[in-house]
Amino acid sequence: MIQDIYPHIYHNEYKDFQPENTDFILVFHRNTVMIRFKEEHLRYPTFSEMQSFSCDYQYLFSIDNYKYFLALPKSCHLEEPSIMIDGYHYENVRIFRSAASRHTAFAGITAHHLFGWYQSNRFCGRCGQKLLPDHKERMLFCPDCRNMVYPRISPAVIVGIINGDQILMSKYAGRSYTNYALIAGFTEIGECAEQTVAREVMEEVGLKVKNIRYYKSQPWAFSGSLLMGFFCDLDGSDQIKLDTSELAEAGWYSRDEITLEDDHISLTREMIMHFKNGNIS
Ligand SMILES: [Zn+2]
Repeated sequence: MIQDIYPHIYHNEYKDFQPENTDFILVFHRNTVMIRFKEEHLRYPTFSEMQSFSCDYQYLFSIDNYKYFLALPKSCHLEEPSIMIDGYHYENVRIFRSAASRHTAFAGITAHHLFGWYQSNRFCGRCGQKLLPDHKERMLFCPDCRNMVYPRISPAVIVGIINGDQILMSKYAGRSYTNYALIAGFTEIGECAEQTVAREVMEEVGLKVKNIRYYKSQPWAFSGSLLMGFFCDLDGSDQIKLDTSELAEAGWYSRDEITLEDDHISLTREMIMHFKNGNIS
């Protein structure tokens, strides 16, 4: 999956580092990232290439011994990127799904999740004062009212519904992602993940499920989520009642009918392959 970057090691401990010349700097503008390609590998600028720009820098994480920082330009233009370095260009963050050098792509999409949080929390939501970064943990605090703001991660479930030797696969309505997927949805306030599974399945395809069992989780920065994968069994009628506002289609597929291959990126795909390869019944 996208977070599996072995033999590289992701160090997520919060540190109060300042950037040095060879450290990598992530520069984003909305849903785009500033990169260049060296052969087919994507590259980020180093701090030494950023000297002429007026930015704040926020330490994000390290991979192996390489530190990654976020550039937060002092003047924030919504329409135009304020930073441009010769040889680099801006590209949609979707590139991180397919880019070679997987640990570099994982760094990029994780940094983009953090970028969204930093950019949306510049001021206190209670009193309007400018928020300041804490030095000990990843937290922003308000010097006036003491409001503390932690990174927002939205839990969501991915559901593999099993009906004998078939699994339910669906396609989203109105999205750029057109491959087969599994039922998915965000956890609402007041429910546990298993209740999210049962509710989302009922809402999207009108089915009852039982034997809900946890499989694996995955950080999925594209939607700011922590995805939690569950398998469950159909309970009762297999008649699908499609929510057409969410889904374009949904149906039952046997192992032989699944033509997808593992993309080594998404939990959804791994769960489909897990079923196809006969590892779940
Ligand atoms: Zn405040």
